[in-house]
Amino acid sequence: MLDNYPSDLGAFWMPFTANRQFKAKPRLLASAKDMHYTAADGHQVLDGTAGLWCVNAGHCREAITKAVQTKVAELDFAPTFQMGHPEAFELASRLAKLMPGPLNHVFFTNSGSESVDTALKIALAYHRLKGDGARTRLIGRERGYHGVGFGGLSVGGIANNRKHFGPLLPGVDHLPHTHNLEHNAFTRGEPEWGAHLADELERIVTLHDASTIAAVIVEPMAGSTGVLIPPKGYLQKLRSICDKYGILLIFDEVICGFGRLGTPFAVNYFGVQPDLVTTAKGITNGTIPMGAVFASDAIHDVFMNGPEGAIEFLHGYTYSGHPVATAAALATLDVYEAEGLLTRGAELAPYFEAAVHSLAGLPNVIDIRNIGLVAGIELASRPGAVGARAYEAFVKCFEAGLLIRTTGDIIALSPPLIIERHHIDTLVGQLADILKTVA
Ligand code: PMP
Repeated sequence: MLDNYPSDLGAFWMPFTANRQFKAKPRLLASAKDMHYTAADGHQVLDGTAGLWCVNAGHCREAITKAVQTKVAELDFAPTFQMGHPEAFELASRLAKLMPGPLNHVFFTNSGSESVDTALKIALAYHRLKGDGARTRLIGRERGYHGVGFGGLSVGGIANNRKHFGPLLPGVDHLPHTHNLEHNAFTRGEPEWGAHLADELERIVTLHDASTIAAVIVEPMAGSTGVLIPPKGYLQKLRSICDKYGILLIFDEVICGFGRLGTPFAVNYFGVQPDLVTTAKGITNGTIPMGAVFASDAIHDVFMNGPEGAIEFLHGYTYSGHPVATAAALATLDVYEAEGLLTRGAELAPYFEAAVHSLAGLPNVIDIRNIGLVAGIELASRPGAVGARAYEAFVKCFEAGLLIRTTGDIIALSPPLIIERHHIDTLVGQLADILKTVA
């Protein structure tokens, strides 16, 4: 072990990690700047994943770091229950201005999972306050990832994440996923085929009756389950079916939000206006945990119409709108705006697209898909060992100086939005070299 490695790796029960395998051969990160991490053994690692899809402006940006340092020394904590601090209001206003349409009200959380559970609770309470309390059913999607709270797990559609935790929330249905290799393999951008899969919502409505359905939640682009890009017209169809039946539509933009698709939000990209949007990650550039749920005027109004003096929504977190997270978010928005990062992905997307699709034809590559500054590269699984090939690529990439993300046998790339063309060349070139060595 190196000097700067901890002597005991046992106590930290690591999340979403094969702990025993990891601890036999750990990968530790010591510092980061812009596009790179420095590992504890000193080697440089090009960040091909913006940390965990969150460090959109690149690492250790001075303006954000300084804002955090200043605020923590000035106002370490302030409750936001029945009181507040000025910057939380300022941040909410700035965010509301950034989000298109009438999504003008912002509820702060500390993570994507909390944002999802908050949005689901807003949807349920909204219908009840409107006197429509039979609308309790929630609709998610197969292969959806909405975090690890019981709400998010329930509407999520990943069997491995769900199967150990009992029946989860009752009254949840799932739309089919939009992952179809046969028709859409090697599509650039939005696939032509598959919008009809949204019609499954009609089937669910027929089965349960619309009067029992509260909300549909989808990731506009599903990142964590392997970069699933919605077929052309799919989200528009979901919107129109929701409108027809008075069902709320929730976009989970925990990954898409803050420039990932080359637009500030997926709402801008697809031109579809949901009723609620969940965000986290890029809101603070990953520096301090924070999430935010955006609610439409129509939803917010229903809550504000109750008796004066009553708490309208009995929900919140000790750290909702935490001053240090708020300062980090304000500084992050400054950086995004000053550098045009929320739309920079659109300029680079054609170059990125051409680069990632150049991996077609390499051993085991059975699909490549991309949108904005995200790409998924799907490998054929080894018989009986799903995920083994991508994991081998991940370990080899890390050792060679490149951070990629894998789910099953899908490799996801989502670099910081400050990436330059030469980084894209290095990233894709290194990945190509490694893929040639994966058995
Ligand atoms: N929703 C989506 C779409 C996500 O991608 C994630 C995390 N990758 C979450 C929710 C959960 O976020 P967190 O890990 O911050 O709880």
